[in-house]
Amino acid sequence: YETRLIRNFCIIAHIDHGKSTLADRLLEITGTIPKSKENRQVLDKLEVERERGITVKAAAASMFYEYKNEKYLLNLIDTPGHVDFSTEVARSLSACQGAILLVDASQGIQAQTVANFLLACDSFLEVLAVINKIDLKDAKINKTLEQITKEFGIPNENILKISAKHGTNCTSILDQIIEKLPPPVCDRQQNLRLLVFDSYYESCPIVIVAVMDGVIRPGDKIQSKLTTKTYTVLETGIFAPERMRAEALYAGQVGYVICDTKISDTVVGDTWHHLGIDVKSLTSFKIPRPMVFAGFYPIDESNYNQFEQSIERLSLNDTGVRVQTDSNPAFGKGFRLGFLGLLHMEIYSQRLQSEFGQQIITTIPGVAYKCKIIGKDNIKQHGSDLLLISDSMKWPDTNIIQQCYEPMVLGQIVSPTICSLPLKILCTERRGVLIEEYSIDEKRTLFKYKLPLAEIVYDFFDQLKQITSGYGTFDYEDSDYEAANIVKLKILINQESIDELAVLCHSARAKAIGQDIVSKLRENIDRQQYKITIQACVHSHVLAREIIQPYKKDVGAKLYGGDKTRLMKLLKRQEEGKERMRQIANIEVPRQAIISVLKRN
Ligand code: GDP
Ligand code: MG
Repeated sequence: YETRLIRNFCIIAHIDHGKSTLADRLLEITGTIPKSKENRQVLDKLEVERERGITVKAAAASMFYEYKNEKYLLNLIDTPGHVDFSTEVARSLSACQGAILLVDASQGIQAQTVANFLLACDSFLEVLAVINKIDLKDAKINKTLEQITKEFGIPNENILKISAKHGTNCTSILDQIIEKLPPPVCDRQQNLRLLVFDSYYESCPIVIVAVMDGVIRPGDKIQSKLTTKTYTVLETGIFAPERMRAEALYAGQVGYVICDTKISDTVVGDTWHHLGIDVKSLTSFKIPRPMVFAGFYPIDESNYNQFEQSIERLSLNDTGVRVQTDSNPAFGKGFRLGFLGLLHMEIYSQRLQSEFGQQIITTIPGVAYKCKIIGKDNIKQHGSDLLLISDSMKWPDTNIIQQCYEPMVLGQIVSPTICSLPLKILCTERRGVLIEEYSIDEKRTLFKYKLPLAEIVYDFFDQLKQITSGYGTFDYEDSDYEAANIVKLKILINQESIDELAVLCHSARAKAIGQDIVSKLRENIDRQQYKITIQACVHSHVLAREIIQPYKKDVGAKLYGGDKTRLMKLLKRQEEGKERMRQIANIEVPRQAIISVLKRN
């Protein structure tokens, strides 16, 4: 296929603004899929995506479209809408030359619209702005036009107005794609350079690729730039939108390759070339960096083997997740997993439950801190002077820490202007720094905040929704590390530390977090023979304390003096309870008490 007849593009939009619906329409108009009334959302392959209505993995679909007597090959590269997946978005965008920026006429510009537009600009994409849902009664077409012009500097007359649902004006999008978006710049005569931009498992590993230079055919011997492993190409093809064999993939094309790979071999962002013909790497893609960490354990410990298998299988399909085994006296054996963001973590645990039927306990998510340590011997012992630590059990001794750093994010919040004050209070509480604020229209304001990631991983989004009665939208991207006073908050029961409850947090938040934990423990631990003191401490400094008084002897006596069946019942219940208890400093702490602290919500 001639390069000048190819267009690689993506659709970027805030969630629910109609990306999947528009993709369906474009595929129908080009005859790629049959027309149908229902919303098929062809691109959203995974069950969880359909359920949640969001696209997790980048998918691709190729279509043919005739324009002015020439047949064009249009490759739609679907990108995840959420910036949790910004590395995946950036990767997908790097295979595109243009983007359709879709905005819901009744909603206007939202946080993700802005975040995605910025990513598209970073990748030097030509942007086509499109207003969707013009059929809605409460469509505010002129206002949305104004917003787009003001925020993105796109002239009014260049903005298309469509209804993806009814197909209105969708054909003109295809015309514009050909007219306005540039074809890929690439060379078929050059040596093969192939960008690996995703992979998934479907009876064998399928690698989604963009061919940047040269040609790839079945039978070719190829080599990975990153791992230097070599493979034989078994099949090449395009997504139309189901996999369709093609005898070759040429520069400028997007499609799939099947090799004799194991899925764990393919590294997203890698460059592949023909064996023996070395080329320069295509990108300097960082391997996606996990940002949010949490412990995952099976509810039923005896189910561990199956649990382990499920985690392994699911992680094969999810290149962003980092897996480490872990164990913990309260929950037994499990895993400590690293995720790209909160949404990623939620989707992962939902898939673990719905697709693998696993019942799980997940701990409160935390972030990875950086820790600069001093002392030759210490550095030698830890292997580096800068440690990356997400697990409180691995936190080094305070006296060898020179400086800690915490991960920051740049957040974009769009909110009704009348909610500005409580919103600012929330962000300040979370140690946010306001960078910019301006009105998008007469009713809504856009805020740009710099926030510590640790402050948003827990319930920030829920709070934001509550404050704005559901109208606020939020999105964020990484913004490197900043120096911060991070401490290890220890939880003690009668002076004995419960290691699995220790928390890494900012010193300014330690007291509030400590209070929350000790009061949850108090609620969940029964009176016992001894007085129980629960404390939250940083170093030897007590920040919060709760006391459980011992029960009086006669209360116990009365209890056991009742009729026989009652006594039997009680004994039985105690028996059942026994294995779920953990002895700490001679105190029986029910597993439930520890779960209540560690569990989300
Ligand atoms: P995505 O999250 O961006 O992929 O959005 P979807 O394509 O899943 O659309 C979200 C919702 O908006 C669905 O219920 C669609 O049926 C609806 N929708 C999409 N386009 C239009 C449109 O042009 N008009 C109307 N009225 N609804 C639309
Ligand atoms: Mg969608």
